[in-house]
Amino acid sequence: MRIEKIIKALEEWAPPALQESYDNSGLIVGALDWETDGVLVALDCLESVVDEAIQKNVHCIIVHHPIVFSGLKRFNGRTYIERVIMKAIKHHIAIYAIHTNLDNVLWGVNAKIMSLLGVSNHKVLSPMPDALYKFQVYVPVDARELLAESVFTAGGGKVSAYEECSFTTSGVGTFKPTQGTNPVVGKIGSREEVEEVKLEFIVPNFAKFAVERAARAAHPYEEMAFEWIKISNNATDYGAGAFGDLEESIAFDAFLAHVKTTFGTTIRYTKPVAKDVRTVAVCGGSGSFLLGAAKAVKADVFLTADYKYHQFFDADGTIAILDVGHFESEQFTIGLIAEFIEKKFPKFAVLTTEVNTNPIQYY
Ligand SMILES: [Zn+2]
Repeated sequence: MRIEKIIKALEEWAPPALQESYDNSGLIVGALDWETDGVLVALDCLESVVDEAIQKNVHCIIVHHPIVFSGLKRFNGRTYIERVIMKAIKHHIAIYAIHTNLDNVLWGVNAKIMSLLGVSNHKVLSPMPDALYKFQVYVPVDARELLAESVFTAGGGKVSAYEECSFTTSGVGTFKPTQGTNPVVGKIGSREEVEEVKLEFIVPNFAKFAVERAARAAHPYEEMAFEWIKISNNATDYGAGAFGDLEESIAFDAFLAHVKTTFGTTIRYTKPVAKDVRTVAVCGGSGSFLLGAAKAVKADVFLTADYKYHQFFDADGTIAILDVGHFESEQFTIGLIAEFIEKKFPKFAVLTTEVNTNPIQYY
C-alpha cells in the first residue's frame, strides 16, 4: 500500500492543522508514493524502533512524538536524531508523527485515558479558540441538495456527534449579467430574479478550503455568492485535555490505586481536596498549562505528567494533581493509533512496537 493512503486516513481523523505551533506532526521522513506492507506504531521513534521496522520488514513507522522538532543542519550521525533519520532514509522507512493534533481532538489521546479511568461522557477541557466559522452560501432551490451534500462530505456541518447540520432560508436573488459573462440563467444586460435559498453550515477552520472548493464544484452559477463568518462559539470537538464524571464517586485512595494499576507506575500527587473523587480532568503528556482549566470545571483531580516541584504548589488546596509520568500517561496512544488503522484497513499488517522507548528508569 502507498503510505499516502494511511496518511490520508490519519489526517481525516486528526487534522494536522490542529497541531500546536511548536509541533512538527506530519510526514517527517519519506514520500507519499513510498510503499509498505505494514506499519509499526510507537510513542517515540528511536534507532531501536527503526531497527525493529527493518527486522520486521515494515516500511512505515507511525509515532506520537516527532523525532525532529527543529531544524537539523548536519547529517553525520553525531546525535540520536540524525542517526534515526539517516537509518530510516537508508532503509526506505517512512516516519510519520501524529502528535498534538491527536491531543487536540475529542476522540484522541485523552479519550483513551478517560475510557480507562471509567469516564464515558468526557468533554474537551480547554476548547480551541477561533476554530469555527460559519459558511453561508446562496444557491438556486434545485441545486440545494447537491450543494449541501458536497459541503457535508468536505467536512462541514458537524456539531459534536451530530453530522449534516445546516440551516436553510428562502429568498429571492437578483443579478444582471454584463458583457463577458456566461450566465447559466438570465440574459446579458437584463436583471434576473431567481428563487434561491441561503444555506448555513458550521465549518472548522481546517476544513474551510475543502468546503469552499466542494461548494464551488457543486454550485451551478459562474459566480458563487457566499460568506465566511468567524464565530466565537467554543469548538466542542477540538482543544486540549479532557474532563468528565466517573459513574460513581470513589474514595481518593481507591482512585489512586486504580490509576496505579492502570498506568503501571508510581504516582506523584498532592493531597486530596475532597474525600471522594467524582470529576476527573486529564491531559496525556505535559499538561501543567491546563491546571486553571481543570480548576474551572471543578475537577477533584487533574491527572497529567511532567510536573515540577514548584508547580505542585499551584494545586493550592483546590484540586489534587496526579503526575503519572509522561510515557506512562501516553502509553495507550500506541493502541489507540493501531486500533484506528486496523479498523480502516482490516487486511493490513499493523504492528505495535516491542521496544520500551521510555528514557526514564525507576529505582
Ligand atoms: Zn508526549
